[in-house]
Amino acid sequence: MPPVAPSEFPPPFDPADVIVAPSDPEDERIEVGVAIVGGGPAGLACANKLMQLLEDEPELAEQLGEVPVAVIEKGKVPGAHLLSGANMRPSAMRELFPDLDPAEWPVYQEVTKDAVYFLTSKAAFPVKPMPPNFRNHGNYVTSVSKLGRFLAEKAEEAGAYILAETAADKLLVSDRIVRGVRSGDRGRGKDGEELANFEPGNDVIAKATVLAEGTIGHLTYAAYDYFDMGGEDPQSWELGVKEIWEVSEPLDRVIHTLGWPLRWSGKHAEAGGSFIYPMGEDKVCLGLVVGLEYTDATFSVHDALQQFKTHPFIKKILAGGKRVAWGAKTIPSGGYWSLPKRFSTPGMVVAGDAAGMVNIAELKGVHYAMHAGMYAAEAIVDALKQDSVNFEAYDAKVRGSEIEKDLYRSRNMRQPLSKGLLVGGLVGNSLVMTKGAFPGGHWEVEDEAEVEMSIGKAGDRYPEPDNELTFNKLDSVFLSGNATRDDAPNHVRIQTRVPREIAQTWVSMCPAQVYEIPEEQLEGGAAEVDVHVTASNCVQCGAITAKGGRLTLPEGGDGPLYQET
Ligand SMILES: Cc1cc2nc3c(=O)[nH]c(=O)nc-3n(C[C@H](O)[C@H](O)[C@H](O)COP(=O)(O)OP(=O)(O)OC[C@H]3O[C@@H](n4cnc5c(N)ncnc54)[C@H](O)[C@@H]3O)c2cc1C
Ligand code: SF4
Repeated sequence: MPPVAPSEFPPPFDPADVIVAPSDPEDERIEVGVAIVGGGPAGLACANKLMQLLEDEPELAEQLGEVPVAVIEKGKVPGAHLLSGANMRPSAMRELFPDLDPAEWPVYQEVTKDAVYFLTSKAAFPVKPMPPNFRNHGNYVTSVSKLGRFLAEKAEEAGAYILAETAADKLLVSDRIVRGVRSGDRGRGKDGEELANFEPGNDVIAKATVLAEGTIGHLTYAAYDYFDMGGEDPQSWELGVKEIWEVSEPLDRVIHTLGWPLRWSGKHAEAGGSFIYPMGEDKVCLGLVVGLEYTDATFSVHDALQQFKTHPFIKKILAGGKRVAWGAKTIPSGGYWSLPKRFSTPGMVVAGDAAGMVNIAELKGVHYAMHAGMYAAEAIVDALKQDSVNFEAYDAKVRGSEIEKDLYRSRNMRQPLSKGLLVGGLVGNSLVMTKGAFPGGHWEVEDEAEVEMSIGKAGDRYPEPDNELTFNKLDSVFLSGNATRDDAPNHVRIQTRVPREIAQTWVSMCPAQVYEIPEEQLEGGAAEVDVHVTASNCVQCGAITAKGGRLTLPEGGDGPLYQET
């Protein structure tokens, strides 16, 4: 079969449906001062900073009403949908809580030793000197899921409201000014019918709305279309699958690996690598992060991670251990060229991963998200004091900050990696050595849905799960604490009859086994096949949006219940 691109089979989804005018009668609307969508590092840093600033602005605090700051989070609790490495640069924590000692932060340890290895199928070769983008001395290993719980507690103590189990489903706009969000309905059946426990969503009206939705934001991308905020290049993403292991021997360093089991050649374009971080004395986390521009429809990040664990070097780290957690999430990787044109529009700002504020060469986003959240808080308070909903000062703050400077320095680092490790390595090194000056120009970020897919052989290389070292997708989803009703409406939009290459791409890519091709169609070698969707398995990693479908929001509270990812 000739290769075919997922973008040729666009999902049945119209972003315009996400933008609506407020519709609840005025006396039924929920009024808040600032509505923050997303209880991740960006949204929660924003909430904390707002409460700190409002302490010195009693008049404004009074005007913002009974609920000056509300954080709307779709996870069951704050942190439930958060997953990261998470090797954190401490600058934002220091700035947000200057009086807190790092010993009081939710972290495992400061990084004092780190190493990079190049793997072949049997051996691990230390990469020396260490590429500067992998240097992590002075950073802290944390769990972003725990960090989210910590930041939410701090924000609540300071007077913010955390509305967990609530999906912000629509963006409320009138006169081209963002007026807040509408929460999703609860209690609908498979065909959208109202069940006995049905509760309609509400208009949440706010003077300022902060979109801090993280990767592949539902409202964010609709807003980019509506307000024409999209960047010069499309956004691109990498998918990360992560496990946490209890281990018998503590790991004494932060490790990154390149090479095996990924096929870095231009043909396969499996560009990525692994991270292995110590979490105190008795745990380690490890994950594989791979760009979604790969071309083999049978490639699966989850299964490649299982294969990765069979390497002698990795096996030794995990020996005698037990897997205790699993999760998956995408990370924006387009960097500088994919940043939106503007970070604000009247009534609204966008912060963190939602705006693509990730330095993928360093695998860092947590501190950028937090800094952006704090800038947003400052700009919003300054504007609201003048009775204005023009938040352009936030754009200026981001543009002049380390966020933009760092992303600019690494602007051409990620794109050449899809041409193979040699080209990518050479370009990357010269960019690091010249602090981003050479090679200059603009290396375009490609739209991953436009990459042509063909059925290759990656799938033949994955190990059979032995339930000790290697595991299948369904058992892994179970470990994520996923709890989505089986009779909930399907929140994953795809075309359900497509060429086999496209169907296989979705089947293999999805870490949660949401998609299946009927056995008889597979065996019969049909060129076009049906795709069955078990949406209740979905852990909302977002990858389907990058590869030709669209993830929309299930009911608030559905999805994973990550504890320590
Ligand atoms: C595998 C992996 C490894 C990583 N490793 C590192 C690392 O080592 N160091 C580092 O600094 N960074 C790392 N990152 C990146 C880092 O995790 C992110 O940059 C950071 O979490 C972004 O924070 P955020 O607040 O913007 O978004 P998120 O952390 O994604 O938080 C967004 C929140 O918004 C909620 N939400 C989204 N939409 C809605 C809605 N419509 N309604 C209600 N709630 C909503 C989500 O449930 C979520 O809780 C990694 C990322 C991944 C995936
Ligand atoms: S269905 Fe859910 S878990 Fe699977 S790829 Fe899509 S977003 Fe990720």
